[in-house]
Formats: sequence, C-alpha cells, structure tokens
Amino acid sequence: MSNPSRPRRLRTADAVLTLVKGGQGVTRGDLVDRSGLSPSTVGHTVSRLLEEGVIVETVQEKGPGTGSGRPAHILTAVPSGIPVGAIDFGHEHIRVALGDDSGTALDETLTHIDVDLRAHEALDLACRALKDLMQSRDVDRLATVVAGIPGPVDRDTGIVCSPTILSSWMGLTPRAELESRLNTPVHIENDAVLGAFGELRRGAGRQHQDFLYVKSSHGVGAALVIDGKIYRGSGGLAGEIGHSNLPGRSELCRCGNRGCLEAVVTVTSVLEEIAFTHPHLDPALITLISTADPVTGRILEQRGWILGGVLANLCNLLNPSAVIIGGALGTTGTHFIEGVRTSVQRYTQPAIAAGMEIKATQLGGRAELVGALEMAGDLARL
Ligand SMILES: [Zn+2]
Repeated sequence: MSNPSRPRRLRTADAVLTLVKGGQGVTRGDLVDRSGLSPSTVGHTVSRLLEEGVIVETVQEKGPGTGSGRPAHILTAVPSGIPVGAIDFGHEHIRVALGDDSGTALDETLTHIDVDLRAHEALDLACRALKDLMQSRDVDRLATVVAGIPGPVDRDTGIVCSPTILSSWMGLTPRAELESRLNTPVHIENDAVLGAFGELRRGAGRQHQDFLYVKSSHGVGAALVIDGKIYRGSGGLAGEIGHSNLPGRSELCRCGNRGCLEAVVTVTSVLEEIAFTHPHLDPALITLISTADPVTGRILEQRGWILGGVLANLCNLLNPSAVIIGGALGTTGTHFIEGVRTSVQRYTQPAIAAGMEIKATQLGGRAELVGALEMAGDLARL
C-alpha cells in the first residue's frame, strides 16, 4: 500500500503508523525491530506522529513476573472518528462490516447468496447491507470502503478477467460498480490477500513476518506475507495456487485444465464424498459441520494432505515461519489441518519444516472481513 510518489518522510511515517496500528500496543523498540529503521528515525517519526495527534503514548507498569525493568511506553493509534466500510464477497456469501478507522468492527452482517452467478444482485445486496449498518449507527459518510473479490481482478483496469471464475462478473469493474452505489471511494482486493492481512494484524499471523495464508473454500487462493508485508507479484496476482497441477488427477477445473488443486480440494468435492459415505443423509442438508464424524474426518484429512503437498513446494521456495489455513475447509476443525500439517512436514526440506508452524486461522470465516477493515483504516489515514 506504500505510494512511491509520496515523499520519503511521509512514507516512513506511514510505515511506522501501520506498525503501530497492527501491533496491538507496541514500544519504540518494537518499531525498530519490525521496521528495520534506525532508532533515531523511529524516534523522530514517533515524535511527529504524537505531535499530529494520530498516535498516543501510555505508560504501562510491568506486571508481576515480568522482570524488574522500567515501565513500558506503549504506542497506540487514535481513531479519526470517520468510520470505514468492508465487504467480503465469497463464492456463496457476502459479509459486510462498519468499522472505526483503527480497524475495529462496530457492526457486521452475513448473507448467503450465489455470488458467482448473480453479480448485480450481490453488489446491490452488499451496498444495501452497508447502508443499513450506517443508518443504524447514524453514520452519514464513510472515509473509504475495502471490498474483497474471490477471483482475479486486472490490477490496471480493475475488471474481473476470468470468464469462468465469477462468470457473471466477467467484464464488470467492481470498484466503479460499488463507488456508484455508495458514493464513497472503494478499494478492491483479492479475498485471500485480505485474509492474510487480517491474520497479520489481528490473528494467527501476528507473531510472524513471513507466512503463507491459504483460503480453502469453493476455490483455493493464497497470499504471501514477506518481511511483514503483502507480496502481490508483478501483476498483482501472486498466490493463484488453485490452478497448480496435481499429477495423476483428472478432475475438470473451471479454468479448462484437468487435475487443478481447486478441482480436487474444494467444499463441493468434500460434500460429494460425504454424500457418498453417508447415503442415509439428505444431500441437500449435508454441511461440513453437521457431519463431523470419523468417516468425514478421514475425507477432510485426505483433502488436507493433497493441499499440503502443493504448499510444501511453496515452503521449500519461501521458507516461511508459518502456514495459516483459512476458508470453509480451514475452519472445519483438526482433521483438515492435521492432513495439511502431515503432508507439509513430509514433503518440505526437514530444516525448513522444523522451524515452521502449520495452523488454522484464528479469525475463522471473518479473516477476510477483518483484513478489509484493517486495510480501510490504513487507507483512510494515508
Ligand atoms: Zn484450474
């Protein structure tokens, strides 16, 4: 999110403020460690931000058992008072939230709808839900809105560019569609990027500077956090691992190839297998949660194992300290995560595997929404 056209002094201030916002209470020493900036640069920047009133400093006494050092001087961001909005379009749901500019949710809603096939209805519904939240809180304007899209968006044109993924969105420009409905600046992101950002700021990624976030639901998307920042790649599409080829598999994928990861590891394929192993259940009523028995556990663990095989290649390349699994499959419990963990450890170079955690999202199905709120808070300040 750094803007190369901004003067270096302001970019440094942006970077420090982002760390303060994401740190849940940080010290100057923390900022030096996490930013790579010199202590004097951090000191000058913090002083300026304190003078501007965008951060405050409080003294926190050390608690029992924390040593006899001096009290800690904790820095926290001050909300500007202008709320922000967040929208998470899943393939089959829309989450909408109103938040303050520190990224804290004030209110939110969840609606189930076939987003892939009903683009305009989904856009209308999301905007109506956000306006309802604003009305219920007497909010008459938003600083900005961040919306996550579960498919490829051309970074230059902002147009949804796959004819088969989000098929009814093909040729639409989500940003323009949302801005015309909301009369507010809108920023569009890939949903996995927002999930990673949410985990980085408020979830399982808080203790990590280098990690992979994987959203495993009706598709498989990933996002990379490298050196504490989102890595987007040259075209903004880094992390499209759903179309990694699985040797020996022949399932037809939405992209036209056979044997893609997301044609095999998907909510739909898991539900089909559960319907096969549980013929006494009404297929229309089967959910991932309602069938949490040992047989379903095997199915989920095996799917996790397949995903882990692809992730192991990425881990060998990137040497992350964590892999965080989110999405509908990532929130089913221990079986799926255990499958991923076993497979990643089996196929990753041992020294890399030894220093790496494989864990489920801490934010559950809200990870993308939380990330959108955090990003909106940052953008409102920049
Ligand atoms: Zn594919």
